Amino acid sequence: MNRKQATETFPEIYERIRSQSPPHHFEFKDPFWVLITTIMSHRTKDEVTDRAARNLFEKYGDAESLSCAKYDEVLPLISKVGFSRVKAGRVIETARIIVEDFHGDVPDELEKLTSIPGVGRKTANVVLADAFRKPAIAVDTHVHRISNRIGWGKTKNPEETEEVLRRIIPEQYWLGFNPMLVEFGKKICKPVGPKCNECTISEFCQYYKNRGK
Ligand code: SF4
Repeated sequence: MNRKQATETFPEIYERIRSQSPPHHFEFKDPFWVLITTIMSHRTKDEVTDRAARNLFEKYGDAESLSCAKYDEVLPLISKVGFSRVKAGRVIETARIIVEDFHGDVPDELEKLTSIPGVGRKTANVVLADAFRKPAIAVDTHVHRISNRIGWGKTKNPEETEEVLRRIIPEQYWLGFNPMLVEFGKKICKPVGPKCNECTISEFCQYYKNRGK
C-alpha cells in the first residue's frame, strides 16, 4: 500500500477497528498518574494496572508523597503487575525525579520525558497524548505489528513505525490511535494466530491478502 492509499483508506480502517474493539482508557488523566500507570502497564493486564495505580494513588496521592515511599510498602500495592519488583523501585524513583528535577510537574516535552530513566518513547508519547492532549503516536509492539501487517509500512522497529505513521495518519486521529490498536491487538490481530476471519478490516490488510501465497 503506498502512502496516498494508506492516508485515503485510514479513516475507514480507523472507524471499523474502533467499532470492533473500543479502546480501554486507564482511570487517571492527571499527568503524573498517567505516567505512573503507563510505567506499570508493560506486560500487565489493563484491569491489574488500573488496580495497582489506584492502590498507589489512595496511599500516596501525589508525586511528593510517592517520592518518599518505602520500597517494601510500595511493592505489596503493585505486586500483581508484571516485573513488580523492578517497577516498585521505578515508580518511587520516577516520583523523586519529577519532584527534584521538574518541581513536581510532569514535563510536556518528549525529550524531557525520555530523560527520565525507564521512560522510553512509547511511554512518553502516551503521556503527551493522554495527559496533555498533544498530538503524539505511541508505538508499542501491538501498534508496530498491526501497522506492518496492514501494510502501512515495512519497518524494523517501533521508532521506524512511528515515523511512517506520522506521515500517513491525519493528525486528528493521533490521540486515540494507540489505545485503539492495543485493544485490537489483544482481541483480534493477536501476535500469534490473528483472528482474520473475524476481522472487519481484512479487505484492507496486506497480511490477509498474502495468506496462502
Ligand atoms: S486481517 Fe488478520 S492480520 Fe490483518 S489486521 Fe485483521 S486480524 Fe490482523
